[in-house]
Amino acid sequence: MMIDKLKLADDLTDAFIKYQYRLENPFPSPDETKSVMTAKYTSDPVFRAKVINLVGGVLHVIEMHNLPKKYCYKCDVETTWLAPDGRCGDCTGYTPEEIRGEV
Ligand SMILES: [Zn+2]
Repeated sequence: MMIDKLKLADDLTDAFIKYQYRLENPFPSPDETKSVMTAKYTSDPVFRAKVINLVGGVLHVIEMHNLPKKYCYKCDVETTWLAPDGRCGDCTGYTPEEIRGEV
């Protein structure tokens, strides 16, 4: 399943604005509207940073779970990285940096 990351980030931002607002204002009040919460997000850099960090954290976890699974042909371990010879870092004896010629 492909995920629309921009849409996902937008929806997460909306959700975490509400979540963070509720953390800081535990008791719902009748005059708080979505625009009050959005204004807080727009005008308060600390509040905004908290929301952005929450969104980033969730996106990172989702990305980790969405990575295509790769398996070492030698030891059959599941890994996110395979050397060009199809073996995992442990089996191939090279580091990703060595393969890319960075060392
Ligand atoms: Zn291996």
